[in-house]
Amino acid sequence: MAEYDYDLFVIGAGSGGVRASRIAASHGAKVAIAEEYRFGGTCVIRGCVPKKMLVYASMFAEELAHARNKGWTIKDAKFDWATLRDFVNGDVDRLEGLYGETLGNAGVESFHERATIAGPNSVKLASGREITTRYILVATGGWPVSPQFEGNEHCITSNEIFHLDKQPKRLVVMGGGYIAVEFAGVFNALGSKVTLVNRSETILRSYEQDIIEKLPPIMQARGMDLQFNAQITKVEKQEDGSLRVHLSNGEEVETDQVLIATGRAPNTAGLGLENADVKLGHKGEIKVDAYSKSSCDSIYAVGDVTDRVQLTPVAIREGHAFADTVFGNNERHVDHSTIPSAVFSQPSIAAVGLTEEQARKEFDEVSIYTSDFRPMKNIFSDRMERGLYKMVVDQVTDRVLGLHLVGPESAEIIQAAAVAIKAGLTKADFDATVAIHPTMAEELVLLK
Ligand code: NDP
Repeated sequence: MAEYDYDLFVIGAGSGGVRASRIAASHGAKVAIAEEYRFGGTCVIRGCVPKKMLVYASMFAEELAHARNKGWTIKDAKFDWATLRDFVNGDVDRLEGLYGETLGNAGVESFHERATIAGPNSVKLASGREITTRYILVATGGWPVSPQFEGNEHCITSNEIFHLDKQPKRLVVMGGGYIAVEFAGVFNALGSKVTLVNRSETILRSYEQDIIEKLPPIMQARGMDLQFNAQITKVEKQEDGSLRVHLSNGEEVETDQVLIATGRAPNTAGLGLENADVKLGHKGEIKVDAYSKSSCDSIYAVGDVTDRVQLTPVAIREGHAFADTVFGNNERHVDHSTIPSAVFSQPSIAAVGLTEEQARKEFDEVSIYTSDFRPMKNIFSDRMERGLYKMVVDQVTDRVLGLHLVGPESAEIIQAAAVAIKAGLTKADFDATVAIHPTMAEELVLLK
């Protein structure tokens, strides 16, 4: 009889857990996975995928407006939230099914229930069954955190926003990070009156200063009310079901929904990690080494639960590297440097590598190249919005250290440029590349 029921038991069927299961199984391991909610995790079920679909759908409003009076006659254009919501959720169902199928095809056994850790080599299912396993992988992701204030229970998080019965005519968004800025943009474009409440004057503060400074005036020009240096202190439910939001700056805002987007915490509560002496950091994250191994030799963790880089493609790489290392006789770890990222704001922001501030701390001489331009497409609108591209270069070696964009399609553009930057190419290499005209991306090879 085998020593353990499984070689690998994965807790959490999100991007990291599913990739790790599939690859471990392909290396010949006997694998099981448990998921208490829906297969696909944050990205597929209540994150990247449905969010990006809402971003696309909200941009139709702009396209329709631009097309008008440019030869197109568009009569009675109306938007219906319920139709869009059901379409998006239908696609989420489809993807969830594909995730289940992929696991089945790979020979991974699935348990649709909560699993907790009972010891270094055992897990307990909610149904009471105990299972032994050589290794455990924790891939339980993160969960929205919300500051405490009176009336907090009347607010929603990004978990609920995809399921709203009605489109809020007015929406208050708390926070100035990815989720706040993206959903503020979506609902504003769909016609809701959006108020964004941020505790400082800076939104998206991990991004390049010059880039993020471009966004607030654009958001305001597009109709959003930005309340900076403010906190929500109280939310009162009115008799008609609407909400009165009290802010620390004395303002009061009448609204229909309040979205709290103040960060996400690792999902480790109640997991039984203490039963295997797995060490946690101060945010509750599982502390792991470069190979994603925790303080317990048989327990690994990947993705948001480790609070390294909270991005799906990173979790996928961590899961893959773990499976190759432990089951594929191919010891390797993920390089967490120079990871490109994007915010699907309107217009979008994207970045790879060092900001100017970071580069000046690490390098003696830094050169900056910029292009501040009006995207050609904006000629179709009345908006005077401009894009900004900024490149950070090591003056001594000419190597490009960072690239930062704000403008339409920034995420699409930076993915290709990120290859060059990851490969260590120089500003001269960018300049030696012929531009494609007329595009926005051509600015990258024409930076002065
Ligand atoms: P972020 O960490 O991006 O932003 C949190 C925001 O909330 C910040 O503006 C922060 O302010 C503010 N905040 C934090 N605590 C409080 C508080 N107690 N009171 C008031 N404001 C507070 O978190 P998100 O929730 O937006 O997103 C979570 C993670 O999900 C992101 O970090 C990202 O990794 C991932 N994500 C990625 C996306 C993408 O790749 N496009 C899209 C969506 C999410 P301050 O800056 O002052 O700290």
